[in-house]
Amino acid sequence: MASIFSKIISGEIPCYKIAENDIFLAFLDINPNAKGHTLVIPKKEENKIFDLSEEAYNDLMSFSYRVAKALEKSIPCKRIGMSVIGLEVPHVHVHLIPIQTMADMQFVQKEVMSEEEFQALAKTIARNFT
Ligand code: 5GP
Repeated sequence: MASIFSKIISGEIPCYKIAENDIFLAFLDINPNAKGHTLVIPKKEENKIFDLSEEAYNDLMSFSYRVAKALEKSIPCKRIGMSVIGLEVPHVHVHLIPIQTMADMQFVQKEVMSEEEFQALAKTIARNFT
């Protein structure tokens, strides 16, 4: 069965898109730890990150780097935290999280955002993606 992220890629489920190319897609996490919490995924569905080829892994990190730079330009924060978990969605994804404190990396406190806020933030980050 297609993962929820494959359904986002196919357009079956909507997302707040940040950036994409033929191989990767970056979009806002729907239940963010902090404003700007972004997921970067390969379009080809794979469960675990270390099952990717070394080349695919490096390409994912390069794309994530560019997304992180756009986040830094868009959101005041101490730094961009990066995490890979995958216990909820078995489709490789890199969490990029603009953080102020360690708690922002703990997936416990969540930021409530309106649809308008998600849309405006995604637009700002997308504009800063190069
Ligand atoms: P993990 O698999 O790394 O534990 O977490 C999966 C992440 O995907 C969570 O942070 C969750 O909020 C996010 N997520 C789950 N379903 C959706 C969805 O349909 N859309 C978006 N944008 N994010 C999702």
